[in-house]
Amino acid sequence: MKNRELFERARALMPGGVSSPVRAFKAVGGEPIIVSKAQSSRIWDVEGKEYIDFLMSWGPLILGHAHPKVVRAVHEQVLKGLSYGLTNEHEITLAELVVSYVPSVQMVRFVSSGTEATMSAIRLARGYTGRKYVVKFDGCYHGHGDSLLVNAGSGVATLGIPGTPGVPEEIAGLTIVVPYNDLSALEETFRRYGEDIACVIVEPVAGNMGVVLPREGFLQGIKDLTQRYGSLCICDEVITNFRLSKGGAQELFRVEPDITCMGKILGGGMPLGAYGGRRDIMEKVAPEGPVYQAGTLSGNPVSMVAGIATLEELFRLNPYQALEELTKRLTSGIGELLTRKGIHHCINQIGSMFTIFFTDGEVYDYETAKRSDRELFARFFRALLKEGVLIPPSQFEAWFLSTAHTEEDIDIALERIDRALSSF
Ligand SMILES: *Cc1c(COP(=O)(O)O)cnc(C)c1O
Repeated sequence: MKNRELFERARALMPGGVSSPVRAFKAVGGEPIIVSKAQSSRIWDVEGKEYIDFLMSWGPLILGHAHPKVVRAVHEQVLKGLSYGLTNEHEITLAELVVSYVPSVQMVRFVSSGTEATMSAIRLARGYTGRKYVVKFDGCYHGHGDSLLVNAGSGVATLGIPGTPGVPEEIAGLTIVVPYNDLSALEETFRRYGEDIACVIVEPVAGNMGVVLPREGFLQGIKDLTQRYGSLCICDEVITNFRLSKGGAQELFRVEPDITCMGKILGGGMPLGAYGGRRDIMEKVAPEGPVYQAGTLSGNPVSMVAGIATLEELFRLNPYQALEELTKRLTSGIGELLTRKGIHHCINQIGSMFTIFFTDGEVYDYETAKRSDRELFARFFRALLKEGVLIPPSQFEAWFLSTAHTEEDIDIALERIDRALSSF
């Protein structure tokens, strides 16, 4: 079966031929590949072509594809049942791991995706504070919940407009959007709406406008403002949990959110999300408290064992230093190749995630990220794909490395990228 043939069939059956929009390769053009299998740092399409994978399922696979320990844990569990609908011991084990490693989390509720985690965290913040407004940052992505899809214009304390048809104005109007890394805009927002703001939600390292790092003092500034006005600080660590360090970005940047959202690596490749935080806040969640949130498949035992195996292996390896060095080998190699070609670029990297922006300026928020030459990115993507290097099919996403990537993989990838660039 060919990629094209299968994609045609998919398109007749599923909107865009996909189960999630960016997979359709619309931003980069060309034909999407249809995957047949993956192992370690490699992924294969249905035509048998092999790629070095830097997409890594958009972040969850920090141990690489089909890690033997994760696969074994899943295999052992499926023989004992796929879902119980009642509490199982693995939930307790994973909750203990999360609470012991994520500094600010004292209690946790498991859900099935990152989107569910952020939606539920916001409901909890509203329920806890009795307030209605949510503040988010331009270019941050927190899943596809109505309140969080809002994409407002620039400027201070812009009241949101719907970012998508289907989100009523009345709902979008409860979300206030502020530029990332702009503390004075946030202060202004609090001066105007402070008494009605339930929470500020932030990606402590942004990964969904491409990688954008928080400026010195930005995260602490959010925490201080929320505290001063009696609202809550939510760190959406769905990408960064267990990616940047054992305790996530909050450990690295020493900030203590009231609520933390988790996902991706937490499930080690299985559908899993979670939100957690201070005990007095989490005790407001049903059935302990009045804020309702539930799930038929929540606490799913297969997801739990995949998560446990992933976290235990991560804590055993403590690979963060090595991952960062390996990632630098790749980014500095690509930087050299691009410079040699005279292509302006800015590489934002932290730990094992990074984004290449084709711009000569610094990228510190969504506006500066959008200055990247997206036509050039699309050509870059297609040339890499042709040479057997898979990267995210969008400018505004992160490349990910895993413990399965070797120095040899990086060197092979650099050779392939060099070849791809020579066809430019
Ligand atoms: C991926 C992501 C989400 C959404 O998670 P899903 O599992 O795709 O619903 C939310 N927030 C951030 C920061 C993410 O990177």
